[in-house]
Amino acid sequence: MDTNLPVSAQPRVVIIGCGFGGLRLAKALRKAPVQVVVLDRNNYHNFQPLLYQVATGALEADSIAYPIRKIFAGQENFFYRMADVQRVDPASNTVITSVGDVHYDYLVLATGSLTNFFGLETIERNAMQIKSIPNALNLRSFIFQNFEKALLTSDPAARQALLNIVVVGGGPTGVEISGSLAEMRKHVLPKDYPELDLRAMQIFLVEAGPALLGPMSPASQADAKRYMDELGVLVRLNTSIKRYEEGKAYFSETEFIPTDNLVWAAGVNGAEVPGLPAETVTRNKRITVNSWNQVQGQPNIFAIGDVANMVTDDMPKGLPMLAPVAQQQADHLADNLRRLMRGETPQAFVYNNKGSMAIVSRNKAVVDLPKNIHFRGFFGWLTWLFVHLMTLVGFRNKVVALVDWAFSYFSSDQALRLIIRPFHRHDVKDDRGKKSAEHRAATPEYNATPPAIQTPVNS
Ligand SMILES: Cc1cc2nc3c(=O)[nH]c(=O)nc-3n(C[C@H](O)[C@H](O)[C@H](O)COP(=O)(O)OP(=O)(O)OC[C@H]3O[C@@H](n4cnc5c(N)ncnc54)[C@H](O)[C@@H]3O)c2cc1C
Repeated sequence: MDTNLPVSAQPRVVIIGCGFGGLRLAKALRKAPVQVVVLDRNNYHNFQPLLYQVATGALEADSIAYPIRKIFAGQENFFYRMADVQRVDPASNTVITSVGDVHYDYLVLATGSLTNFFGLETIERNAMQIKSIPNALNLRSFIFQNFEKALLTSDPAARQALLNIVVVGGGPTGVEISGSLAEMRKHVLPKDYPELDLRAMQIFLVEAGPALLGPMSPASQADAKRYMDELGVLVRLNTSIKRYEEGKAYFSETEFIPTDNLVWAAGVNGAEVPGLPAETVTRNKRITVNSWNQVQGQPNIFAIGDVANMVTDDMPKGLPMLAPVAQQQADHLADNLRRLMRGETPQAFVYNNKGSMAIVSRNKAVVDLPKNIHFRGFFGWLTWLFVHLMTLVGFRNKVVALVDWAFSYFSSDQALRLIIRPFHRHDVKDDRGKKSAEHRAATPEYNATPPAIQTPVNS
C-alpha cells in the first residue's frame, strides 16, 4: 500500500496518536514551516474522561468523539492517515504502519495508554474495561443484557450474579463509574425493571490501596468515601481481586463475589510502539524522555502524554497520566521543535498543575486546587461539569452533552439504554448460561455465600 503523502520541501513531523497530546501538538504546529502528518487507528478524537458516562447511558458516544479531519479542516500543512502503527525504525527514520511506511524528519509518539491487567490472565480475558468508545458501548450493552437475563432465570444465585457489579480500582474512573451505576440503580432501573428486586443489586468498589482517589487530598478521599457510602456502594479498601473465573471475582483463594459484571479500572500502562531501544522503555511500558520530551538517545524522536515518562524532582515516578500533562507537553514541544529547527537549544518543560477533580454523582464531586484548596458538593459538581463541557471538542458536542445532562438532572432519567450491538465475551469461561439450575444446586461452590454479599444495600 502507498500512503500517498505529498512530497514537501519542509521537514515532516509525524505524530502517532490524535488524543489529547497529538491533537494539541498538530494544532500548535498550524503555522510552523513543517508538514504535519498525524497517524491514528481511529478517525476520531476520543474524550476519555467522559467514557464512563457513555458506559452508563448518560451521554451518546458521538458527543464525546470528534472526527479528526473535521478538527483540522482548513489547516493546510496537515495530513491524516487512518493507520495502525506497528513499529518504528529509527535507523531509517521510518514508521511502519498497516497502510504502508511513512518517513519522518521528526517523530512524536503520542499513543497514550492501555489497560494494565497486571498479568492477571483470567481478569484480562473476562473483565470489562473502559479505555475506548467500543469498550464503553460494550459495557453499556452488557449490563443491560444481564438485566434482561436476570428476568429470565428462576435461580436466585444466578440472578444475584447477573445483578451484582464489581468495579475494581478506586481512582477517579472507578469512583465515577460506581457513583453513576448507583444513581442508575436508584432512579432508572426501578422504572425499567419493576419485576426485579433491585435491593438485591450490589455495587462493589474494590481498591487495593487504603483510600479512594489515591493521588487526591485526604479531604477529597474522605468525601468520596462518604459519598459512596451514602449511595450504597460497598467500598472494599486494601482489597485486591486476584482471579475472575466462572462468574466469581476472587479476593482470596476462598472468598469471592459472584458477579457477571466485573469492570476493571485498576490501572494503565504506556502504549509503547515497538522499535525503540529496550533501555528507553520503563517497566510500565512508558518511554523515558528528557526534560524537553526527547526520547533518550534519539535526537529526532519525542514522546508526550501518557506514553512519556518524564521524571522531575517532585515527581520521581514520572508526571501523572492526565490530559493536562499531555496538552501542556504538546504546546511546549511545538515551541521546542521550532527552536530546534532554528538551531537553538530546547527549553525544559515545567508542569503547571491546575488541580484535580472527580465527580461521584449528581451534586456530589470533589475538587482539589493548588495551595491546598479543597471543595466539594454542589459547587464541586458544577465546577466539574463546567470544566468538562469547556474541554469537550466541538460546539455540537458541547450542546448535546449540556442537553443530555440537563435532561438527566431534571428528569432523574438517562435516555440511552439501548442494546444496539449486543456484546458477547469471546473467551469467557463462564458457563452460567449453560449450566442447569440442578447442576448448580449440586455444586457447592455456587451455593457458598461469600461474606460480601450479605452486606445490606442502603440506598
Ligand atoms: C476512563 C478514563 C477517564 C479519565 N479521566 C480523566 C480525567 O478526568 N482527567 C484527566 O486529566 N485525565 C483523565 N484520563 C486520562 C486522560 O484521558 C489521558 O491522560 C489522556 O488521554 C492522555 O493523552 P494522550 O494524548 O497521551 O493519549 P490519548 O488521549 O489516549 O490518545 C492516544 C491516541 O493514540 C492512538 N494510538 C495509540 N496507539 C496507536 C497505534 N499503535 N497506532 C495508531 N494510533 C494509535 C489512539 O487511537 C488514541 O487516539 C482518563 C482516562 C480514562 C481511560
